[in-house]
Amino acid sequence: MKRETIKKIIYLFLNAFSIAARLFYRSPRVSILMYHSIGDNGAFFTVTPKEFAWQMAYLNEHDFQVVSLAQLTGKLKRGEKLSDKTVALTFDDGYADNFTSAWPILKKYNFPATIFLATDYIGRSFTNSENVRIKVLDQAQIKEMVSSGLVEFGSHTHTHPRLENLSAADFIKEVRQSKEALEDLIGQPCRLFAYPKGCFRNDFFAILKEMGFTAAFSVKEGLVSPGDELWALKRNFIYRAGGRAQFKGKLTYSVVIYNWPKNKIQFYL
Ligand SMILES: [Zn+2]
Repeated sequence: MKRETIKKIIYLFLNAFSIAARLFYRSPRVSILMYHSIGDNGAFFTVTPKEFAWQMAYLNEHDFQVVSLAQLTGKLKRGEKLSDKTVALTFDDGYADNFTSAWPILKKYNFPATIFLATDYIGRSFTNSENVRIKVLDQAQIKEMVSSGLVEFGSHTHTHPRLENLSAADFIKEVRQSKEALEDLIGQPCRLFAYPKGCFRNDFFAILKEMGFTAAFSVKEGLVSPGDELWALKRNFIYRAGGRAQFKGKLTYSVVIYNWPKNKIQFYL
């Protein structure tokens, strides 16, 4: 059986019991979704515009409260109680289709979102690990989204390197370059950071704080709640082969239970 089929079956099973699972957790936890490209380019991390439209309609129909990441991280920091139906949307790398395909749908529902940009690629193209080349947002598109007040931009470094073997000095250089480029372009402070490929070291936390960031995001899956480490917040990867069972599961406690054995005994599916 294919890996995605096994995953789907597990998520279908967990989704059926996710209301019961809620009883095991004292404080409500919420999901931060991580998207990349919204298009028809066939890359593994891409979601088609049609499926993205279905997903946003699902959030709308099921009364999810979509909040901005700045709002959510503020609540986490202050230890404010969250509703189980809170969700935040993020997009990594800053693909141009976030403007052409995702943004019209976000505007339709008035859903805020955060795009994490690798600033060296603005107006150029990005080639992913499967050699798929995808256009990145240009300056005019970024400015237009910022001026709507619906989309906020965060740093995803300047050149999108793997960070775990970078010296502290090189890490600072990467982050500073991207923060300054973004702030120059959008005229607003850049306070959110996402680690490229989710790779980080704990010594980065103090550096980011010192540089004026308020939170940083990993790619480890699960839900977030007040008291979580603000410099490695979990996000849930939404991708083409994931399908609807996994999408629904990543909004609920299913994703916590699914990842529990994976986190405890490194069991990997
Ligand atoms: Zn990335």
